[in-house]
Amino acid sequence: MAGTLYIVPTPIGNLGDLSPRAVETLRSVGLIACEDTRHTQKLLNHFGIKAELISYHEHNEQQRSAELVRKLESGISVALVSDAGTPAISDPGVPLVRAAHDAGIQVISLPGPAAFVAAEAASGLGTDAIFFGGFLPSRPGQRRKRLRECAEIPATLVFYESPHRIAASLADCLAVFGDRQASISRELSKLHEETLTGKISDLIKKFDAKAKGEFVLVIDRGKSKTAMAEKDTPDLKERVNALEAEGLSPREALKKAAKEAGISRSEAYRLMHIDGE
Ligand code: SAM
Repeated sequence: MAGTLYIVPTPIGNLGDLSPRAVETLRSVGLIACEDTRHTQKLLNHFGIKAELISYHEHNEQQRSAELVRKLESGISVALVSDAGTPAISDPGVPLVRAAHDAGIQVISLPGPAAFVAAEAASGLGTDAIFFGGFLPSRPGQRRKRLRECAEIPATLVFYESPHRIAASLADCLAVFGDRQASISRELSKLHEETLTGKISDLIKKFDAKAKGEFVLVIDRGKSKTAMAEKDTPDLKERVNALEAEGLSPREALKKAAKEAGISRSEAYRLMHIDGE
């Protein structure tokens, strides 16, 4: 019988966050695939777990995946861990998980620490729709391009960021998104954990290029162009009325007001009749 691939999240700071089920799984499998064998060995030592380790990191994950699938097919169960948090979330793992599915291997994902989930929950920002953007590009031009792509996404935006880029990324966020509400969670589950909230311009004042720690940046959902136009609907109605009072026909007044608002005539008509009036 084939083995099972277990995805095992490990603590992002506080060792108390390794769940009893994760400990049990790490004890029971035949092999643990990990980013850094020395790092994972320390974790295993802390919990008194004896296991065989094999390295699985960004530079060998394609080739290792095939090797690990052969082990799984031979009946050995494998646990996949990364240095911290949930494997495959901005960490190595995707090729192995995909290869396991392709080979018909059972994949079991243990819920556990993931920095972006903890940060989103602590942000106080909307959770009905969340976009996780992973790491922003390090080069300023590419970063702004990515942020522009994200600007219209109707969801709270979550990004991972390194300490030496947090200040520059906040400045780019302000330039691209405007002064939205935001939150920064630093050092989650560690001694100096903090979550700061405010406008992006408030947060910029608190972090400079010498900032330290690990960061998750959460940005409030922006208003879509339609939502902004909807907010301006009373103005649109007033403008149409004023143009009609100046002698324009209702059709001409609507056309002119729509042009001034930068939207199509049909969109202006829809917005003005949004309440069924
Ligand atoms: N797989 C991990 C997870 O599930 O969150 C993410 C790994 S990614 C290589 C590392 C990034 O996650 C850091 O640069 C930081 O943005 C975020 N991160 C990890 N641990 C964190 C912590 N304790 N507090 C805040 N952010 C953290």
